[in-house]
Amino acid sequence: MRKPLTILFILLVHYGNSQMTTDQQLARLKAVGYQQSQAKKMFYQLTDQYGQRLTGSREYYAAAKWTAATMKEIGLTNVHFENYCKECRGWSMKSFNVEMVAPNYMHIMAYPLAWTKSTNGTVEGELVQVENWKALDSIKNNLTGRLRGKVILLGKAPRSIKLTDTVFSRFSDDQLAKLENEIVPAEKATPLPEMLDEWAVENVQDQAFLEFVDKEGALAILRTSPMMTGILANSGTYYYKETDIRPLPFFTIMPEHFGRLLRLLKENASPRVRLNLETNFYLEPENNVNIIGEIEGSDPALKSESIMIGGHFDSWHLASGATDNGVSCVVLMEALRILKQSGLKPKRTVRIGLWGGEEQDFIGSVAYAREHFGNMKSKPNAESEKVSAYLNLDNGGGAIRGIYLQGNEMAGPVFNSIFNKAPSLGVKTVTIDNTIYTDHETFDYYNIPSFQFIQDPLSYETVNHHTHLDFPEYVPEEDMMKNAVILAWTIFNLADTESRVPRKQKK
Ligand SMILES: [Zn+2]
Repeated sequence: MRKPLTILFILLVHYGNSQMTTDQQLARLKAVGYQQSQAKKMFYQLTDQYGQRLTGSREYYAAAKWTAATMKEIGLTNVHFENYCKECRGWSMKSFNVEMVAPNYMHIMAYPLAWTKSTNGTVEGELVQVENWKALDSIKNNLTGRLRGKVILLGKAPRSIKLTDTVFSRFSDDQLAKLENEIVPAEKATPLPEMLDEWAVENVQDQAFLEFVDKEGALAILRTSPMMTGILANSGTYYYKETDIRPLPFFTIMPEHFGRLLRLLKENASPRVRLNLETNFYLEPENNVNIIGEIEGSDPALKSESIMIGGHFDSWHLASGATDNGVSCVVLMEALRILKQSGLKPKRTVRIGLWGGEEQDFIGSVAYAREHFGNMKSKPNAESEKVSAYLNLDNGGGAIRGIYLQGNEMAGPVFNSIFNKAPSLGVKTVTIDNTIYTDHETFDYYNIPSFQFIQDPLSYETVNHHTHLDFPEYVPEEDMMKNAVILAWTIFNLADTESRVPRKQKK
């Protein structure tokens, strides 16, 4: 079966875009995307060799340098870094261990929350429960003078673990039809500046509590976040700026272990915990970079316009950030490699942006937008008008099944036509619905037509998202390869249309 494809490829090399039929263009992309896929190789390099990519960290920057070099290898031009934060600090883990040592021994499955400070060597203490950190007045009344040398168990008994048979799922035809039949977006998005203001308040809500218990001499805090069996979820504090506090050692632990410790405490069995944590803070603003690259448009009149694609490059630190969002970064790069390698020449410029700090209030994409599209309070500038569309990828590693229009009804026919021309890609659903909580909201706020794809959920929300199990084992390689071809196809067609993608009419 290999031979006919090779022949097809060689024959097509001699023709430009316009001399090829639609089917021939698609075949070209498939040949490069499937027969010569580089996705797997890039994915394991990024996630295994570079690992976690917490904003501000040295690990992030090392991975960013590898990514920029890879972009150049692929043949992208204008590859460069753009700094997104001068006062965001780095934080890395060096070593940690958490154990129960009485009434008998148990190793506690734990992970430190980001931006928490080290213990003073190995320390050991009894437990004390604090049900709710928000009740600071009563905490002060009851616990002043009683926390020295204690380990705080923060929260109530975890709800019982949900065992479901839907750990892993793909969209059914019924679910997709339901999305397609929606006539207005299901969820109302908060305007970006308001959302950023709300987050800024939320980020530091527990500061007074953390400062109080630290001053009182507590050794550490243990909390949990029940998701599925044995999963460590809930990754960080949000004290990522140089001027922020350095919270005391603070761990998320396995719900089953939290439950046992709490029951022992209530049964007066005097559980004791021994722990150590060694972390490292540093201010190295050079680590805080968005990664940009492009394929210059081939049409002299249209190349000043662009199709932008992107997703966040940062991750949490509990695993290698495979589904959130390493796989998407790789799919985006692989899509551009496929375009370059195929010889198809998009008329508009295609620009990729891999953003830092998405997990910290979109600071990467927001800095990019401010720099290029103007102040958030004023009207989007001429540069923003040149961006025909922005495509974001940040929904895990599942196969792409369609696209969310983000309330942009007029863009529906554009995507319907692109997907209908390529039924073999299996992308059918175009929904008016929106998705929230990721970087395309930044571009949407500037009234750039901005979209995210509908992807099969797989185990993203049940197992992987912000947990210690965010590893490549949960990403089907075939989905990754198909998604890169789907992206290449979508980008190529958007870059080749006569007019730009229609913008939403502002009220
Ligand atoms: Zn994400």
